[in-house]
Amino acid sequence: MLKTPAYAVASAKAPLAPYTIERREPGPHDVLIEILYCGVCHSDIHQARDEWGGSIFPMVPGHEIVGRVAQIGREVQKWQVGDTVGVGCFVDSCRQCEACRAGEEQYCERGMSLTYNGYEQDGKTPTYGGYSTRITVDENYVVRIPPGLPLERAAPLLCAGITTYSPLRRFGVTAGSRVAVVGLGGLGHVGVKLAKALGATVTVLSHSPGKRSAALELGADDFVATGDPEAFTAHAGRFDLILDTVSAQHDYNAYLNLLRRDGTMVLVGMPEPAPLSAAPLIVRRRRLTGSLIGGIRELQEMLDFCADHGVVADVEVIPIDKINEAYDRVVRSEVRYRFVIDLASLSGAV
Ligand code: NAP
Ligand code: ZN
Ligand code: ZN
Repeated sequence: MLKTPAYAVASAKAPLAPYTIERREPGPHDVLIEILYCGVCHSDIHQARDEWGGSIFPMVPGHEIVGRVAQIGREVQKWQVGDTVGVGCFVDSCRQCEACRAGEEQYCERGMSLTYNGYEQDGKTPTYGGYSTRITVDENYVVRIPPGLPLERAAPLLCAGITTYSPLRRFGVTAGSRVAVVGLGGLGHVGVKLAKALGATVTVLSHSPGKRSAALELGADDFVATGDPEAFTAHAGRFDLILDTVSAQHDYNAYLNLLRRDGTMVLVGMPEPAPLSAAPLIVRRRRLTGSLIGGIRELQEMLDFCADHGVVADVEVIPIDKINEAYDRVVRSEVRYRFVIDLASLSGAV
């Protein structure tokens, strides 16, 4: 086993603190990755604070991992030492069910192995995420970071990128689509850039009026402050697709009314439950759906799309000892738009 420095939470109420984990020596199909950067997703906070229930402690969060291949197993075909690679939200799945065979491993019927707060496919070995200096992963659950993408700005694509790209593609966003992105955070700001790259007209719906100019600078065509109750009447029936990235409870019914006939609202934010009325769905035959990250094939497709279109995240790079402060700032919607940990700040700190 490989002793590896990490940061972990011991319980839902505990702060992140230095911790040592064991990584497995690479098996025949594994690669050992030296982690360079890891993004800080709001899901890390939800899980570290056990806001979804069932968290497994001690927990080493982090599922927006970019690094370099440091060692490969003897049968590895896809990777060589020195390759720049990424690991997203899961590190394995059953590989046999219908979802896995369709390349949608995130919907694995037997349960994917989450990158952290989960178990390997043996059902008992806990997984630990990217707030650490290295990780051992099966070669089939690793993706290539295309050359030209700045690595610290590419890291958030491994979750924020795929989580917004997948529904934008699946629900047919194309040139001329009228798209609204709700919540201009880590997911939302990448969603704006991706929707623009797909040719959509993009409006940001935000509860932070101060984000107007930043939204327009990111490429949004319009900005609506949702704190103004008039906004929901003024913009009723306007959008083909609403991508809802909000991490806190809010009124889905009000947003549904902003859709056109046959419009679709996709939930990717995962707050606490909120009431839903049938009427907004019925009166314009609107659809409400959700979407979970994306499969490995689509993850690679998204990274290549981002390289072709120059899409990367806007980030604030931090050393790992600033992580607790960073969590509080994410909850206050203060980060523009993603914290990314520079793991050089953890090297040698076993
Ligand atoms: P984030 O950076 O914190 O962004 C969330 C945004 O929601 C904030 O920037 C803010 O935007 C808005 N918001 C926050 N509190 C609000 C409130 N009280 N009322 C209204 N709006 C509020 O989080 P993130 O990393 O983008 O993640 C967003 C959500 O997606 C989280 O729930 C996360 O767990 C979930 N997620 C889901 C998937 C998936 O596969 N479905 C993957 C990753 C993450 P404004 O200031 O512009 O209003
Ligand atoms: Zn995430
Ligand atoms: Zn499966």
